[in-house]
Amino acid sequence: MLVSAKEMLTKAKEGHYAVGQFNINNLEWTKAILLTAQEMNSPVILGVSEGAGKYMCGYKTIVGMVNGMIEGLGITVPVALHLDHGSYEGALKCIEAGFSSVMFDGSHYPIEENIEKTKELVRITNELGLSLEAEVGSIGGEEDGVVGAGECADPDECKMIADLGVTMLAAGIGNIHGKYPANWPGLSFDTLDAIQQKTGAMPLVLHGGTGIPAEMIKKAIDLGVSKINVNTECQLAFAAATREYVEAGKDLQGKGFDPRKLLAPGTEAIKATVREKIELFGSANKA
Ligand SMILES: [Zn+2]
Repeated sequence: MLVSAKEMLTKAKEGHYAVGQFNINNLEWTKAILLTAQEMNSPVILGVSEGAGKYMCGYKTIVGMVNGMIEGLGITVPVALHLDHGSYEGALKCIEAGFSSVMFDGSHYPIEENIEKTKELVRITNELGLSLEAEVGSIGGEEDGVVGAGECADPDECKMIADLGVTMLAAGIGNIHGKYPANWPGLSFDTLDAIQQKTGAMPLVLHGGTGIPAEMIKKAIDLGVSKINVNTECQLAFAAATREYVEAGKDLQGKGFDPRKLLAPGTEAIKATVREKIELFGSANKA
């Protein structure tokens, strides 16, 4: 059964570790993440972007697949199914479809409008016992080949949003989505510290977890980060392993073209990435 992310993140914040959000793209992705979380006895959050939602034929398809897999694979660790960077309308659709958690990314709105829409979603998610992530300060990343620098959120605005009663808060601290450029200055721990001071017990979320050095991840967890999003790293691992399989000509040997064989090395590579992250985040045996 799917659960809200509230309890797992409250425990993570108290216990000074972080729960990974791993984004899913298809059946293999979902299976790899669920099996690894179970094997490591770790809580886990499955992230779905609106684009991935469309790709997987809608939110209801995803809810059906994930619930079926939890039952079919005998998954007993806490699993939250979470909309990543949702619009207001997208959040409502996911709630209706049976997601247990949603993110409303109102960071591109003026703060007043972000507050207004977040407030409405706090009311709805509270009523249903779902978790809600809000965002302040946009997170940089590649758009049309241009890598935008990660913004740093205003700690006072973070407090305003946190006080609305959201479950967890994503705040820009110089982090970006996708691969980090060679000249990236690193995370702004001063900003993170200031946000943590103002927001207290609120679990903080670090987006763009791919390629942030391990020491920075550990320091961020020390400073109150309780949820870390990983997406690109699983994609890179899957692509590299699949490339290796094809370049070695294995798809041309025997039944090597069978999708169950062709996609197996990539699936194993996702498992290895997830395993490594769960270890680094410290959520193993915290289910
Ligand atoms: Zn993000």
